[in-house]
Amino acid sequence: MRILLLGGTGEARELAHALAGARGLEIVSSLAGRVSDPVRPGGIVRVGGFGGAEGLRNWLTGNAIELIVDATHPFAATMTAHAARASAELGLPMIRLNRPGWTPVPGDHWLRVPDMAAAAPVSAETGDRILLTIGRQGVGAFAGYTRPWYLIRTIDPPDAALPPRHEVLLARGPFTVESESALLAQQRIEVLVTKDSGGAATSAKLAAAREAGIPVVMVDRPPAPPGLVEVTSLGAAREWVIDYAAAHRGRTPERR
Ligand code: NAP
Repeated sequence: MRILLLGGTGEARELAHALAGARGLEIVSSLAGRVSDPVRPGGIVRVGGFGGAEGLRNWLTGNAIELIVDATHPFAATMTAHAARASAELGLPMIRLNRPGWTPVPGDHWLRVPDMAAAAPVSAETGDRILLTIGRQGVGAFAGYTRPWYLIRTIDPPDAALPPRHEVLLARGPFTVESESALLAQQRIEVLVTKDSGGAATSAKLAAAREAGIPVVMVDRPPAPPGLVEVTSLGAAREWVIDYAAAHRGRTPERR
């Protein structure tokens, strides 16, 4: 069974690894090609967009894919929507691995906002020295804010318009609570802006903000397409795929 694994996340890499060697499965991992030096999963990897929903549909049929596993980032809403559409149109099964969002604990001061457009004014009203850890694509929403100073942390340099008072810090997680606390203190950060990505790789900043009493502007996830089959853990995704493949073959699942 040929499976398209839409990736670009640590979970997708781990899932590709976890499924490697499972009997009768061939995994093709797909990366968008956004970061200049991506961490590549093992096995077969393709890189670059498909050319919209129609391009994806053609690619899926041309490559005889029988199952789509969407393990893209919780904020990669366009890719998920295209995959859901192609799945419905082609009658191809699809499962989404969507890690749980973060939940506040005592001591957190979170301001939840629905999207990046709302995060910009809310953070500007909350403090003057703002740390943006939202990836390079969302930064444009802050470009018109002239008063605050922004520390913009991204993996690759942002190419959007930037606010006039800023510094770009290029860094790739995972980060530790110690290093995040040091960054907040050294840069005298007053507000942290983040997307509700969930997961452990980038959650240290939340603990550091809590310890320092710094408010966090938390951007909610985009809504998922209706009717999507979703699992929230790597183990559940692996199990689902192996069981599905076994049922498809009409045989007992074989787990490593
Ligand atoms: P997006 O807005 O949902 O997708 C925009 C376009 O990028 C898609 O229409 C597709 O192009 C292409 N694309 C996205 N994911 C792809 C994949 N896995 N393989 C091939 N093409 C893909 O996506 P995004 O938010 O820009 O994220 C891009 C990639 O970075 C994803 O793989 C995602 O998992 C990863 N990532 C995203 C974030 C985030 O915060 N958004 C954070 C960490 C990692 P076509 O229309 O041409 O097919």
